[in-house]
Amino acid sequence: MLLEGRRALVTGASSGIGRATALRLGEEGARVAVNYRSGRERADAEAVAARIDPTGARVCTVQADVGVEADVVRMVGECRERFGGLDLLVNNAGIESRAPTLEMSLEVWERILRTNLTGAFLCMREAGKLMAAERRGVIVNVSSVHEFIPWPGYAHYCASKGGLKLLTQTVALEWAPLGIRVLAIAPGAIATPINPGILDDPQTLRRVEAEIPLGRVGRPEEIAAVVVWAASDEAAYLTGTTLVIDGGMSTYPRFQ
Ligand code: NAD
Repeated sequence: MLLEGRRALVTGASSGIGRATALRLGEEGARVAVNYRSGRERADAEAVAARIDPTGARVCTVQADVGVEADVVRMVGECRERFGGLDLLVNNAGIESRAPTLEMSLEVWERILRTNLTGAFLCMREAGKLMAAERRGVIVNVSSVHEFIPWPGYAHYCASKGGLKLLTQTVALEWAPLGIRVLAIAPGAIATPINPGILDDPQTLRRVEAEIPLGRVGRPEEIAAVVVWAASDEAAYLTGTTLVIDGGMSTYPRFQ
């Protein structure tokens, strides 16, 4: 097992990539705090926790909206009380919505930025305090290929992920002397509830698959596998960078 005894917090772990990551961390021997946003996601989070460890000894669920500072401070405090500290933070919580820029309200812009970028900052800062105290830790930020590929209709999402890229690199520099590795992963198109428009419409799905050299969208478990490796000592020399996991999408196959 790659992560025996490590203490991990995964945000937005009630579904999709976060859920798959929490489950895989559990399989690798980690103790896992399963974050969920609100009462609506609670049952799903509890189901994830029950699968990791039905006895509850190695797992807990913790409610927090990552975009609310007081929630994040409380969540990380609960992790400290439960596990005594944190070795791994997976900043996975994220949202997206289509909004052409000419029609984008400030409210919509701020909602995306608050969750995807401010949320990641708040969780990094609070978890980072625990890690700095022990002079060890790993932070994996779940970014997107849209940290470098523009996406019309999603300027707020692209801005949040582009911001996350440089947040990751800057904090990696600040915290390298503290023994904390900070990196990002950039998934391509992955089959999760965040993009029902792609998965539910066969024509759109075919169009997306045509953009992917491996010819299919990815599975959440394929992202979780990379997170586990990046968090482990196998990746001890990895920090301040983004690992792209996209089936080759960012090689722009249409330009052949
Ligand atoms: P998802 O909708 O299944 O999961 C997102 C999770 O984040 C949900 O559990 C949701 O409840 C949680 N969340 C949202 N706002 C939150 C908040 N304020 N506080 C706490 N939790 C919150 O989608 P997913 O595809 O698994 O997305 C996970 C991450 O992967 C996101 O950051 C997303 O941008 C990124 N990503 C996804 C894809 C893809 O194709 N699925 C591609 C690139 C990047």
